[in-house]
Amino acid sequence: MREHLRLSLSEIERLAFDALLSAGFSAAQAGAIADNVTAAERDGCTSHGLYRIPFYLGALANQRCDPQAVPELIVNERAVVHVDAGSGFCPLALRTGLPALTETARRHGIAALAIRRTYNIAALWPEVEQLAASGLVAFAFTGSNASVAPAGGTRPLYGTNPMAFGFPRDGPVPFVFDQASSACARGEIELRRRDGRRLEPGWAIDADGWPTEDPAAALDGAQLPFGGHKGAALALMVELLAGALIGELFSVESSERDVHGIGAPFGGEFLIAIDPGACAAPGQSAIHTARAEQLFERVLAQPGTRLPSARRHAARERHRADGVPVDAELVGRLRARAGSRSGIGKAT
Ligand code: NDP
Repeated sequence: MREHLRLSLSEIERLAFDALLSAGFSAAQAGAIADNVTAAERDGCTSHGLYRIPFYLGALANQRCDPQAVPELIVNERAVVHVDAGSGFCPLALRTGLPALTETARRHGIAALAIRRTYNIAALWPEVEQLAASGLVAFAFTGSNASVAPAGGTRPLYGTNPMAFGFPRDGPVPFVFDQASSACARGEIELRRRDGRRLEPGWAIDADGWPTEDPAAALDGAQLPFGGHKGAALALMVELLAGALIGELFSVESSERDVHGIGAPFGGEFLIAIDPGACAAPGQSAIHTARAEQLFERVLAQPGTRLPSARRHAARERHRADGVPVDAELVGRLRARAGSRSGIGKAT
């Protein structure tokens, strides 16, 4: 059993920010990443919380990763907004592009955001939640590094390629799901290796193509898509949207580029935002949220069901009130990285 320390959300954010700033990230980059990582800890998404900070720091060993990058926003009269992340990480590129995506979707009824030249190791739900909370229907897609075999294959080709979807609700939080197209996220395998836990059946194959529940053998072999050929088709779709469509790398090309084995995928993220008002029947007002609630009620009327994000939102309430238990060894390492700045972030 690993030792945990309970940190408040502001302590987590400060610890992440200080470690990143000490390593050479600009305040803008560090702030956006720390915000993203803190949201993940707040919502109980441990594999995208402070656990990711060493990956952000490790990426700096790659001279092509720019911790000071200033993303460039390109908006024209068309409905696709562009952000060149300048070889920086995605959270700041999203901060740069999301307001323009929102405004463009309101103007045209539908719009897209193409983020290029970005390292992305974050969860996707924060961006679709932000868009859906502002009343838009939202999709997000990104490739990663090759770790998933195509259906019937045995060698990594696709990334774990997550996709996220958000739909507005009248209540405080929108409907959101965010899922990898692999049977599990890679971070979950890494965490289970760290913690000495087995994988679930159907998650991975070893280097010889045999099913395995050993995290180390899985990391040497290949992950499997969820749902066989159906998940594989979605992984391929993500490669086409976040790679081919916007002129960015495929996951396998990102891996080939990762000569230092940093494991931080490089390429694109693609988002689509739809204004529900533009989709209502001509001459009628939008009824999408009321209709959605009718369906959610029918789902939840069945015992054993819950809506996607319900777990996150429950964790959000709990962690806001009580703080978050964080791996003590990780906190120690980050405090060491934060150096003299690390006075803040002490566990309670
Ligand atoms: P999960 O399989 O844990 O969950 C996927 C979705 O299903 C979530 O929205 C979850 O909601 C929902 N869900 C889970 N169980 C149920 C249930 N019983 N009923 C209804 N809904 C349910 O996520 P993954 O392992 O697939 O992905 C984890 C994260 O990893 C994602 O955030 C993804 O963006 C990220 N990722 C990032 C990558 C990158 O390179 N940037 C690569 C791959 C993944 P809830 O959260 O509330 O449980």
